[in-house]
Amino acid sequence: MNRSTSAQLYEEALQHIVGGVNSPSRSFKAVGGGAPVFMKRAGGSRFWDEDGNEYIDYLAAYGPIITGHAHPHITAAITEAAQNGLLYGTPTQLEIKLAKMLKEAIPSMDKVRFVNSGTEAVMTTIRVARAYTKRSKIVKFAGCYHGHSDLVLVAAGSGPSTLGIPDSAGVPGSIAQEVITVPFNDLDSLRAALEKWGEDVAAVMVEPIVGNFGMVMPKPGFLEGLCKLAHDNGSLVIYDEVITAFRFHYGSTQTYAGLDNHEDITPDLTALGKIIGGGLPIGAYGGRKHVMEQVAPLGPAYQAGTMAGNPASISAGIACLEVLQGAGVYEEMERLAIRLTEGLQASADRHGIPLTINRIRGAFSTHFCAHPITNYEEAQDTDGEMFASFFRHMLDRGINLAPSKYEAWFMTTAHTDADIDATLEAAEASYQAMAAE
Ligand code: PMP
Repeated sequence: MNRSTSAQLYEEALQHIVGGVNSPSRSFKAVGGGAPVFMKRAGGSRFWDEDGNEYIDYLAAYGPIITGHAHPHITAAITEAAQNGLLYGTPTQLEIKLAKMLKEAIPSMDKVRFVNSGTEAVMTTIRVARAYTKRSKIVKFAGCYHGHSDLVLVAAGSGPSTLGIPDSAGVPGSIAQEVITVPFNDLDSLRAALEKWGEDVAAVMVEPIVGNFGMVMPKPGFLEGLCKLAHDNGSLVIYDEVITAFRFHYGSTQTYAGLDNHEDITPDLTALGKIIGGGLPIGAYGGRKHVMEQVAPLGPAYQAGTMAGNPASISAGIACLEVLQGAGVYEEMERLAIRLTEGLQASADRHGIPLTINRIRGAFSTHFCAHPITNYEEAQDTDGEMFASFFRHMLDRGINLAPSKYEAWFMTTAHTDADIDATLEAAEASYQAMAAE
């Protein structure tokens, strides 16, 4: 496949944009380097690059594009919003509509506030939890990504529960000391951390279903135990549902039928993003009324935004959720994902390639290993070179995946059986080439 225009554009981009990309996850650094593909146009399940090559897309822009690219209902909503003026700096009726839709789908959110990104949403839930509890430390789980604000750019140390060390230059060590990292799916480590630092812990924050080191379900009892330990300690529970809300069903983890005991897995605060903006920039956070009343102008915790709740993002979000309210939408994404994952697994098995697939309804992750993936350590212990090879073979056969072994494949409402057939054909050829390498 000729991608010479992408290669040229990458050279040019490197002159002007740091690293040639506006988000590091778009670079091909984790899959052996070189020029990323410069896409020119997208529609439905497809991408076309600057050289005119066509791709079936499973990246879905890291999640938001659950209705496929350029969905006509969303495009019409954005067009109408643009014609009515892009940004007011005043409240609008549209914001109430989307807030009500979120509240109906996520019952623990008595009150909502819109922001512009998942990063902002998470960052603010932390501030609100600190204001409410008057404590400073946060417990997070290794491998969970919560955006790029200082406090959450902290990696695990080596012990089962550790105070953080900064994962990024520019994050002061003093800030990292405010974060305690424990392994996902490990209640004993959480208990030990709370025994040691409990009086200072404002919140336990988690991706309740993980989307950032593959798709990983909480073990039975994990979320119940997490909520109980946190609440018994006087700490709040924050769910980062930037990836997971509206991903598996029309709602969030706390109402997902794949998990039991919904009352016992209800968070105090929830952070949202991605899907709820239908492809435009958005974030939101919400939670119990008396916790949210910490936020200005009602309370002492300050958070603001020039672009927050802008009519275009809100309109796109409403339109996206309307599409997702359609009958059988999630069932169809799941049906296609089952076909695809069963085919990928059978084909890998035939070629003697070790592959573990974690699928949750229409989203899944592929790990080149023979062991199950239940936490970050296990996700790290997989064959990155094999993933890089698979990624490149698939790309050359017109399949667009995220250039990282930790990222998920996302089914959209635009994918078809024909897409699955073509993807399985590409995978069979890719495995065959890999087995011969
Ligand atoms: N939380 C989670 C779980 C995420 O996956 C992400 C982004 N991938 C974020 C927060 C940050 O969102 P954004 O990139 O919109 O700032």
